[in-house]
Amino acid sequence: MPNLSSSPEIKAIRGAWLNPVSDERCGYSRDGLLVASKESDSWKVIELGDAEALITKHGLDSSQIEQEPGLLMPPFFDMHFHWVQDEVRDMPKASLLEWLEKYTFPKEAAFADPDFAEEKAAFFWKRILATGTIGGLCYSSIHKTALESAVRHAPKYFKIGNVLMTMNSPEALTQSDREAMELNSWASKTFGQRHVASPRFAPTTGPDVIAAASFAADSIDGFAQTHMCETQQEIDWVLSIYKEMPGFEDIDSYIQVYERTGFLGPKTVLGHCIHLSDAEWKLMAETDTVVASCPTSNGPLEERGLGSGLFDFRRADLEEVRWALASDIGGGPFLSMLDVMGSFVRQNAEAGNEAATFSRALYRSTQMGAHVLGLGESKGSFAEGKDLDFISVEASEEQLGAGNADEVLSAVISPHESNRDVYDSLVRKTVIEGESVFEC
Ligand SMILES: [Zn+2]
Repeated sequence: MPNLSSSPEIKAIRGAWLNPVSDERCGYSRDGLLVASKESDSWKVIELGDAEALITKHGLDSSQIEQEPGLLMPPFFDMHFHWVQDEVRDMPKASLLEWLEKYTFPKEAAFADPDFAEEKAAFFWKRILATGTIGGLCYSSIHKTALESAVRHAPKYFKIGNVLMTMNSPEALTQSDREAMELNSWASKTFGQRHVASPRFAPTTGPDVIAAASFAADSIDGFAQTHMCETQQEIDWVLSIYKEMPGFEDIDSYIQVYERTGFLGPKTVLGHCIHLSDAEWKLMAETDTVVASCPTSNGPLEERGLGSGLFDFRRADLEEVRWALASDIGGGPFLSMLDVMGSFVRQNAEAGNEAATFSRALYRSTQMGAHVLGLGESKGSFAEGKDLDFISVEASEEQLGAGNADEVLSAVISPHESNRDVYDSLVRKTVIEGESVFEC
């Protein structure tokens, strides 16, 4: 390692650093130093470790060291959310299908107005950076202009899809098969890898359109997303609809709709997957399809979720099905992945599953999302050679001194359980590739 003291293109940031390594391992340096260097216009991590040791090792003097307060960690990837539902996240929730019909669909219909969509996009995509989330997979409404506004304002690591809805939907949100296919194909050609083929879910999107969306995504090696097996009522509905359709008469599981439309694969992310049969788990694994798990959205009604149930992450691990965490705004009540992490730990602990640690939650909110998006080599942790991305989360000296990574995360996140609105404003700084994109 060369002595770095004379190089002007060095950043050395001293603070309390968390570094997610795996489900089981998360490094924590209470007095840590992250050393980064600028390589052809881009800041890359050289090393993270104990501050005193690295200062000596690299021959740094105090003028080269920036102090960064708060708890420092990689920024988040949110692998399933609806930017057009930011305003229905607080609406009364009794069940998935009722909430969609009563609140969500009318709100999404408003995004037909380009001025409204543009104004909302300008606000939303700033807001998400302020919660420390810098990338992920997002659903827009059915409207072309809303998608254009979203892509214009969203930072580049977000991929966005216009939902496709061709049946069992309110009139204002129903496209003909042809309209849906043409818009999907236009978006795929126009936005390339930024676009995600996004049939809303099997009940609202006909099989020909799901197949066309899947084909369009494959042809550009792009991503696809939809919802699956969130509630039993939804599963029964899907089977009753598709058993009447040619080519699907003999299906006995929800996933067969997506299998037969060519939708499954390693670049397909399915939201929820709470109620899966053995055969469905098997097919998820065989096709390497990914789950976006949304604990706050699926959480109990009294915790402002839709009460759909708890995702069985241990089963997913056992079956070797990849999964990452997500907010599912507006099914989930808060955009902050800190809230999602807290909810994941709390709900699993209540169900007697102590393996749902904060370290695991952090790993699945950072490194795993980056990995699924094909960014695992450059984002998601502070391994050598990765981009200099980090967030700073408000934390007191006492919280920072709480112990190991799990204990510190618990000390920072758990106290706000009874006042969860706080999570959305707990991040004090978001940095992407050495540049600050949010600072409070
Ligand atoms: Zn969703």
